[in-house]
Amino acid sequence: MTHAKTLFPICGQAIRLPEHLVGEAIRLAGEHGAPDEPDVERDLRCYLQIHDSRHHFALVLDLAGAATGALWTRWAEADSPGALEILPDCSYADPESREPCSEFANHPGAHTHQLTAAPVESS
Ligand SMILES: [Zn+2]
Ligand SMILES: [Zn+2]
Repeated sequence: MTHAKTLFPICGQAIRLPEHLVGEAIRLAGEHGAPDEPDVERDLRCYLQIHDSRHHFALVLDLAGAATGALWTRWAEADSPGALEILPDCSYADPESREPCSEFANHPGAHTHQLTAAPVESS
């Protein structure tokens, strides 16, 4: 039996994390363990399925511990990330590979494993 897997393109919007949010990320993550500064993601990319919604989302730092979620930031087109927020992990896992989705809970669009790996360059 063949399983036709539909893959959706990802948004791929890239942005640089403002320097002041690096310190903020360390501070917030510190409540969940001792974060390493180099682990803070500076080159952000939105891995959501291409969306019409205004905000792009990117993972900034994984928090220590299970079920603690991760630090995310969001930004609007032509804007830059202004704040960090802790969002719980998406609980979805691929029924075949058991690979967990790497987005946040209640994210819009398809889950990670349903997206094409290669980011689609916006022209
Ligand atoms: Zn996006
Ligand atoms: Zn998901």
